[in-house]
Amino acid sequence: MKKLMAANWKMYKLREEAKLTAEGLVKAVKDSLPQDREVLILPPFTALRSVRKAIKKAPGFALGGQNFFPSMQGAFTGEIAPDMLLDMGCTYALAGHSERRHIMGEADEFVGQKVTFGLERGLSMILCVGETIDERKEGRLEEVVRRQMDTGLAGVPADVAPERLTVAYEPVWAIGTGLTAGPKEIVEAHGLVRSILQDKFGAKALEMRLQYGGSVKPENASEILSLDNVDGVLVGGSSLSAESFSRIVTA
Ligand code: PEP
Repeated sequence: MKKLMAANWKMYKLREEAKLTAEGLVKAVKDSLPQDREVLILPPFTALRSVRKAIKKAPGFALGGQNFFPSMQGAFTGEIAPDMLLDMGCTYALAGHSERRHIMGEADEFVGQKVTFGLERGLSMILCVGETIDERKEGRLEEVVRRQMDTGLAGVPADVAPERLTVAYEPVWAIGTGLTAGPKEIVEAHGLVRSILQDKFGAKALEMRLQYGGSVKPENASEILSLDNVDGVLVGGSSLSAESFSRIVTA
């Protein structure tokens, strides 16, 4: 199973900067990308085309959408459909990122609709889950992750191809804060995610990838990637520069 090294560029970068960053990344890792790594770039929608061009001939690179609306088409002003992402060359999409849950108020059920519909339309889906600092302090990590996964995966068919479903554990308190979960916390949470997947999908769950996200940097990437049940990382801030993300990708 290839480790999935994802760059979430959030609402950063105009087209030219996106193009230069993607080109810089391809150049930096073209001779050093380990065989067992897949690099995924999730740019803003307006930069999808530029990034697609930049990674076109780069083996091991993929393009993804940060979000979509779970419908074929229709009167949904301001939204984008999975087929539009596919049309732009995307093969992956995120659902349930904490910024969408907490800033845009997306509920577990809505996140679940996206996971199901995105898979149905042919995208590989990354479901993000994770607790806030208050939930952790209250000892509710398991309750929160279980609820987000139960609802988020409720419509996923049992025969889903395992490589098309990834769960990213991203403790909300570690996203964009510089705080990283420690190895013990990561192993504990990823063990929980794996066991929930096993309850739902049986042995196939072992072939699904689990990413860690939350202030991953070149300095901590190698240790995080060596932990049990860590099959990749989802990186925000440190993915914005080709220099730092290339060091993470090859860590
Ligand atoms: C993210 O955007 O998913 C993320 C983990 O951000 P950061 O790496 O900046 O914490």
